[in-house]
Amino acid sequence: MKTLIVGGGLAGICVAHEILRRDCQVTLIDSGINHSSAIAAGMINPMTFRKMVKTWMGDELIPFLMEFYSDLERKTGQQFFFERTIRRAFSTAHERELWLERERDEEYRNYIFPISTDDTPPYVREEFGTGVVKCPGYIDAKTFLDANQTYLRRKGILRTEEFDFDQLDVDQSSYNGERFDAIVFSEGYRGKQNPFFQYLPLETTKGEVLTLNIQGLDTKEIVNRKCFILPTHNDVYKLGATFTWKTTDLSLTEEAKEELLSQYSDLIKKPFHVAAHEAGIRPTVADRRPLIGEHPKHKRIYIFNGMGTKGYMIAPYFARHFVEHLVDHHELLEEVSIVRFQNYLKEE
Ligand SMILES: Cc1cc2nc3c(=O)[nH]c(=O)nc-3n(C[C@H](O)[C@H](O)[C@H](O)COP(=O)(O)OP(=O)(O)OC[C@H]3O[C@@H](n4cnc5c(N)ncnc54)[C@H](O)[C@@H]3O)c2cc1C
Repeated sequence: MKTLIVGGGLAGICVAHEILRRDCQVTLIDSGINHSSAIAAGMINPMTFRKMVKTWMGDELIPFLMEFYSDLERKTGQQFFFERTIRRAFSTAHERELWLERERDEEYRNYIFPISTDDTPPYVREEFGTGVVKCPGYIDAKTFLDANQTYLRRKGILRTEEFDFDQLDVDQSSYNGERFDAIVFSEGYRGKQNPFFQYLPLETTKGEVLTLNIQGLDTKEIVNRKCFILPTHNDVYKLGATFTWKTTDLSLTEEAKEELLSQYSDLIKKPFHVAAHEAGIRPTVADRRPLIGEHPKHKRIYIFNGMGTKGYMIAPYFARHFVEHLVDHHELLEEVSIVRFQNYLKEE
């Protein structure tokens, strides 16, 4: 089995590792410019705070990703997975009530700590108390990307170049005259321009993040309410992230900066200094599920995209799921298979 992957961000990297695990041949092409996997905060949050419920498939995704990233740390010789808990400052009394309900639910035992009334640190502004999520941690996204791209380049798998659609012979599934058993598109938000998958509802959701220096906060906890404040190293914190729907404009905006800083001041009492401001584009899908599978008309042309707002949580598990489909012809989960959008193709 010989596979070409277009896109060496998180999605393409995870698929490449899974193919290598099978001792199959793989080539990865990446333009060398990344606007999502490198910008991400990389948090693995097993809770969805809006409804105070477990994240979709968290029971399966979390144990899998912990092993997956540890294995990649061993292979690349770089650490990028760091332990962190998440402290949620409740927005309303209702949210606190929901948390107390979850505390009584056996299903949430591995997800949240019981509320303790006296452990909220003094720098958190809160009216309704706080609760702590048993978050496994976060992936230092830039280190992850650098370490894995370097590893795959050294193995002769990753090539830095722009994919040229004029060199693709879709009937032969060949690129630049070289034949492949599968060509997998993992182009992130740029997949929206992919001529074969225009019918899929891939969206582009911009996010802006700030890097702050905060002296004396001195915590290993991520703090969350409206925004997140993620401690990385020493006095350096990530503050994010905004959501601007349906845009690929990567400009840094004053509005986003002000929004984040106002959310920060509502949550944290410490003074700060803004060290950096970055923007990225998430590849999202309205039903919040990835887009995986073979093109309905063009055999051997695949997509593995739409990792959304929680790509670092989702991509490892579904890369394995996808490669099992590719190599062993296992059925894809209906929820992630692009077959769910078959009707959109007819409407084209
Ligand atoms: C601000 C922000 C915060 C985030 N925070 C989190 C978080 O806390 N936790 C979490 O789990 N997720 C988070 N995410 C989401 C996560 O970053 C994405 O789900 C994930 O990175 C998407 O990875 P990808 O590989 O699909 O896309 P990308 O990272 O965009 O990678 C696509 C790659 O394809 C390449 N490419 C595209 N077209 C071509 C071409 N024609 N030729 C060659 N190469 C091509 C590009 O160069 C790029 O490297 C965040 C995202 C943003 C923007």
